[in-house]
Amino acid sequence: MRVLLLFVDGVGIGARDSEQNPFARFPSPFFSFFKNEPLPVLPHGGVVIPTRADMDVSGLPQSASGQTAIFTGRNAAQALGHHQSGMPTPTLRQMLDELSIFKSVRALGKTGVFANALSQHYFDHRGERISATARALIAGGFPWLTMEDLRAGRAVSHDLTNEFLRQMKFEMPVRTPAESAKILAEICQRADFTLFEFILTDMFGHNQEMSQAEAIVRRLDILLRTLLPLVNLKETTVVLTSDHGNFEDLSVKTHTHNLVPTCVWGTGQNIFVERVKRLEDLAGSIMAVLA
Ligand SMILES: [Zn+2]
Repeated sequence: MRVLLLFVDGVGIGARDSEQNPFARFPSPFFSFFKNEPLPVLPHGGVVIPTRADMDVSGLPQSASGQTAIFTGRNAAQALGHHQSGMPTPTLRQMLDELSIFKSVRALGKTGVFANALSQHYFDHRGERISATARALIAGGFPWLTMEDLRAGRAVSHDLTNEFLRQMKFEMPVRTPAESAKILAEICQRADFTLFEFILTDMFGHNQEMSQAEAIVRRLDILLRTLLPLVNLKETTVVLTSDHGNFEDLSVKTHTHNLVPTCVWGTGQNIFVERVKRLEDLAGSIMAVLA
């Protein structure tokens, strides 16, 4: 069995309130989960597992600790004594280096890939301050996909369109979200474990831009609508999850305390339904599907 993990930053299960929740204002059948309502069955037989992101630590859940928990299976916030925003701190880096899911994938004799292209410039420029996703990949000893891979249609960018890189003056073709979804479907057939990271949800959650939120919901809807029919769900389990709430409540500039959705498609679904209650449960569940 293969696993494709779609990590979507800053998405929680919010109220069905079109004034604050873009998923209520611009409905998508893939994002039809709302607080205090029965859980929907998603298109292609997907289930939604409401998942705790708080790690039993007070304060608002944040990205660096939440992502470290997802990619290591450990309670990163408790290890620090607080939720950590931004990029992983030395303690979190050490956790990722020692316990990264990519490292576990390699130990199992399986292959892992991060579908987002990275540049040498990114590593040179940021030094130790790289994202939890990039750090998790490197800890497993797997090569990153390059800007050349992105140009050649063998990698994707986090926004699914390459717009962000073009604004940074990288020479890149513009892609539609559907084209990127097809590339992602191809990438995940070639590796046992594939990770994709989408961050615009967290960015627009902080910006509180309802006017731009529709484009984000549509983009994620196109991703899933295009990707899922192209993936053999008997062989590949597709998981979408997040590190903390944010985008589902644009009435506040901060993250939220809401549960996050873990959406699962494919035959590994039951493993997740049985095991996932918290962010820390995801890595072990992925490994159980791969084993
Ligand atoms: Zn954030």
